[in-house]
Amino acid sequence: MTMPPVLPRPAYPFPREHYEQLVARREEFTTLSSIVLESTGHGFRVDAGQAFRLTLETGPQVIDLCVLSADDPHDHLLCGSQMAIEGGRVGRFTRLWGTPPRTRPLATCIADSVRNTPVPRGTRDHFCHGAHCNPHLWQLYTGQHGRPCYDNLRHGLAMVGLSQRHIHDNLNLFMKGGYDPFSGASIVDQSDSRTGDLIEFYAETDLLVVLSMCPAEEPSEDLRDAWSSSDAITTVNPIRVTTLATGTAPLGWPLPDGLLSTAAA
Ligand SMILES: [Zn+2]
Repeated sequence: MTMPPVLPRPAYPFPREHYEQLVARREEFTTLSSIVLESTGHGFRVDAGQAFRLTLETGPQVIDLCVLSADDPHDHLLCGSQMAIEGGRVGRFTRLWGTPPRTRPLATCIADSVRNTPVPRGTRDHFCHGAHCNPHLWQLYTGQHGRPCYDNLRHGLAMVGLSQRHIHDNLNLFMKGGYDPFSGASIVDQSDSRTGDLIEFYAETDLLVVLSMCPAEEPSEDLRDAWSSSDAITTVNPIRVTTLATGTAPLGWPLPDGLLSTAAA
């Protein structure tokens, strides 16, 4: 399968050769666990040097993803830093950055099979700044709420021994999102993802990974307008969650001196 183009080069040095070698060995990764989720939240641990893969089993499904350090859950993906360092979208070779003071890569995307169709307003799958739907928003926009992402993430956090206080602004995987350049409104287009599409991350440190399968209908216009429709809550498509042993230890952060010069080239 041919991979989509790599996103713009990030601000920090990136040791591309190391990750290209890792990607070249993906077929040799061994499966540690593999489960299919039907419609809820989930939490699991991924040790440093392992990988986790999220695969669409039957069709598009927005996945809200929280990533936290297992040693210190206050060190988690920070979307503001993420946008400043990598931009607002995630694709192959995008690193996921944690909170200050360490501001280190927690994970690196090593595979993303979604083929994005460019659109004039610039939305793209795997949006990093959409946060998660919650009971208050659903009630405000639709006058009802089922089981929003907030509750799913709360459930997933409980599975790894944490509470909802550790929910953070998260990635929206398989969501084609962006911002209106004039109004700043959050906009979402129909995802380009298809059955069998996957995204895969390599753990740069021991991680707790928590996800929600979002129950919101895939909107085609302004998010608030879409949620105001009577059929805003939709059927959730199952996903497969796979953890893998890669046989490759993380480089650590900061990067070893010898790699910095070549990474910056
Ligand atoms: Zn949601």
